[in-house]
Amino acid sequence: MLISDFDGVIVDGMQEYWWSARRVALALLPDTAVLPEALPDQFRQLRPRVLHGWEMGVLAAAIAGWGAPASAFAVDYSEALATSLDRLAWSPEQLTGTLDAVRQGAIANDRSAWLALHRPYPWMLAELQRLDAAGEPWRVLTTKSAGFTGELLASHGLRPQRIHGREDGPKTEVLLRLRSEGVWRDRALFLEDRRLTLEDVLATPGLETVDCRLVSWGYLLPEDLRGLPPGLALLTPEQLEQPFPQQF
Ligand SMILES: [Mg+2]
Repeated sequence: MLISDFDGVIVDGMQEYWWSARRVALALLPDTAVLPEALPDQFRQLRPRVLHGWEMGVLAAAIAGWGAPASAFAVDYSEALATSLDRLAWSPEQLTGTLDAVRQGAIANDRSAWLALHRPYPWMLAELQRLDAAGEPWRVLTTKSAGFTGELLASHGLRPQRIHGREDGPKTEVLLRLRSEGVWRDRALFLEDRRLTLEDVLATPGLETVDCRLVSWGYLLPEDLRGLPPGLALLTPEQLEQPFPQQF
């Protein structure tokens, strides 16, 4: 059973992240705030540190000069995030609600333009199409909402058996639940581009049958590739030319 993260593994959504983060920040900041339409390098560099989508609005605000300085996020991300929320008097719930509203608005107003901001990685698209054609089940495990993820997968004709979105809870908890439900028999292959998430899986008792792969093409931090712990291997596009069962 293949279980894959979505953002940075199946789809490159960097353009959409900035597009929606910018709109979230501008919706919540005073009218004087300005942000460029083009993706700033600072946002591209900080995006791998994001765990929940709502954090992107805080990064955009920092780039506009509100909350903690953008440079502080590279030094101590969670500290800068907490400081920003405090200074801006924003809550994760409010940011999530605004992000969902921005995306829903984009889908309602110009669905194809919004979908075009997401680019599937060609080697993943080919592999998932191959699994679909062979009738082999695969699932998606993402911190995005299942609705938006399903919309994007459907636009490429992809048919996962299930999408586990942010509504389903933390990834390790979802994996434990799936394992206890017998979703995979022998081993599951879990693809992620967030090393911390994979390290959480490796440290969770009960998830020994999950084979963790850090994908080389995702949103990685420079230090992510250094000294991978036992049980955590890198997956490259070239390796994907081998069908999945041979990856174990
Ligand atoms: Mg990801």
